Amino acid sequence: MEPRIHDLQIESPVPELLDSSVCTNQVFSATYQTLLQCSNDHIEELNIENNLAKKPYNCPYYGSKCNVTGDVHWLLLHLRNDHSVEMHDGRCFSHRYVHHNPKHLHHATKMLTLLDCFGRQFCLYFEAFHLRKTPMYIAFMQFMGDEEEAMSFSYTLEVSGNGRKLTWQGVPRSIRDSHKMVRDSQDGLLITRKLALFFSTDNTANNELKLKISGRVWREQPISN
Ligand SMILES: [Zn+2]
Repeated sequence: MEPRIHDLQIESPVPELLDSSVCTNQVFSATYQTLLQCSNDHIEELNIENNLAKKPYNCPYYGSKCNVTGDVHWLLLHLRNDHSVEMHDGRCFSHRYVHHNPKHLHHATKMLTLLDCFGRQFCLYFEAFHLRKTPMYIAFMQFMGDEEEAMSFSYTLEVSGNGRKLTWQGVPRSIRDSHKMVRDSQDGLLITRKLALFFSTDNTANNELKLKISGRVWREQPISN
């Protein structure tokens, strides 16, 4: 059983710009004649690539208690069925994170949602944690695939409220890197709790902290010579 997190929830997800493109598997095929033209080095490279492609991914759900591995399709089913992770369609999103008891961060407080766009899937993490002794929030995105393809995407995250705005632009990390590795490298939108209070849209009710975080994913165009 995964621990239930009671003091952080996501509110009013607003998926936009529906992207109905369907994930298609790339099938490698080569004629016998083409193979004959390949040098041994090329065949060796293809073998290495195929082996990497077959290497299963670890479940990207945070925490070390889940040991499930598999391909992306299998992990998507697993995340939805076994971890109750929500999937949102579209390359733009706007979420409101509600932290019911922001003064207490001693319990790990994390949220994961999935984003489906460009026929690919992304993990969007939001987490309250301590960086040394400073209470912080971090949001970042990871690509459900390998590093090479992850680098062809970019994303922005923006926290806004009360006339203030903070924007992060980044490159999604592959889920080959663990969630903890990415968090500890601070490769995302970092907000100290003090700063978060300035963005919070409702500080008066029940000491809740509400952060509106919106973002967008896009595919970088290849550089033309
Ligand atoms: Zn899992």
